[in-house]
Amino acid sequence: MGFVEDELYEVKKLCEHVVPGSKLVSCVPTMVRAEIKRTAFKTLVFCAQFPEEYPKAPLLIELKSKTLSEKLLLSLTNVCEQEVKNLLGKAQVLHVIKFLRKFIDENSLVCCYDEINRVRKALGPQDELKLKQKSSAIALKVYNGEYYLTGKIFVPDDYPLSVIELQNVDTNFTPTFYKHMVAQAKEIARKCVEPPLKKKPKDPPFVPGPSLEKTLMFLIDCVKRLPAEDCQFCKKPCFPQEQQLLERDETSPNHIERVYCGHLFHQGCLLSLMKQPPFGNKKCGKCGKKLAHFKWSISDRTAEARWAHEQARERELQEVEEFFN
Ligand SMILES: [Zn+2]
Ligand SMILES: [Zn+2]
Repeated sequence: MGFVEDELYEVKKLCEHVVPGSKLVSCVPTMVRAEIKRTAFKTLVFCAQFPEEYPKAPLLIELKSKTLSEKLLLSLTNVCEQEVKNLLGKAQVLHVIKFLRKFIDENSLVCCYDEINRVRKALGPQDELKLKQKSSAIALKVYNGEYYLTGKIFVPDDYPLSVIELQNVDTNFTPTFYKHMVAQAKEIARKCVEPPLKKKPKDPPFVPGPSLEKTLMFLIDCVKRLPAEDCQFCKKPCFPQEQQLLERDETSPNHIERVYCGHLFHQGCLLSLMKQPPFGNKKCGKCGKKLAHFKWSISDRTAEARWAHEQARERELQEVEEFFN
């Protein structure tokens, strides 16, 4: 038997035993084709052809995958080509299949390669995104002037079917904003993998999708956008440039509040706006959506009655004042 036939015999005998999750689809002199699968998403197909001068020349390799990134496959193909150049004169097929399985096992973030690259583009020179392939996590640090948000994002093995997990989020925005950022980020992530409670009859069947990019982009946007936003009442910036001066007392008129539509007010400004007429349909000056905030729980009617009462009282006081003057 020739070299290639001997090698094919070995590959057939050993491949599926020594490489977990591998399946030989074809193993003939014209083409070797093997599927290598860790999870439904971390799956790729290895195709190889023997050049005429094989094994003195390297195998011709092509990698395919329905789920993994095209760019990742291209660079992985390059790495494989380098690998086989070190094996000239020897059997190469099984070595590469083993190498690919090891690569998938050791680089758990392969399943979000494109997402990570797009997130990187949204970051500034000061920011950091570090990949921790061993623990399948991403460490994120986002800055805007003196404000920051840091956190770790765990990517589960069966991503994107399972949702990412936010861990150890820390920020020097106020607790109000910390709570909002974390709760909203978790909600965005959850919606990517859980079907909506109320399904519209015309909606296509729900398919879980990637949650990493959407969630991180939301957090990055919060840090990059919020410090530049103005109070929608007094039109002054809400967040002081010096983070030290940020009002942390929730009862202070300077405490920053986020209304339902997402725009910002000083607490004092919001309260004086709510206490003023017209009642019943107050709108955000920026986006025109109805103004709503959990701290302002009394109804418009009560607010109107209170206002009328205060006005009446002021008139009375004025009359008294005029009487004595
Ligand atoms: Zn204000
Ligand atoms: Zn608004």
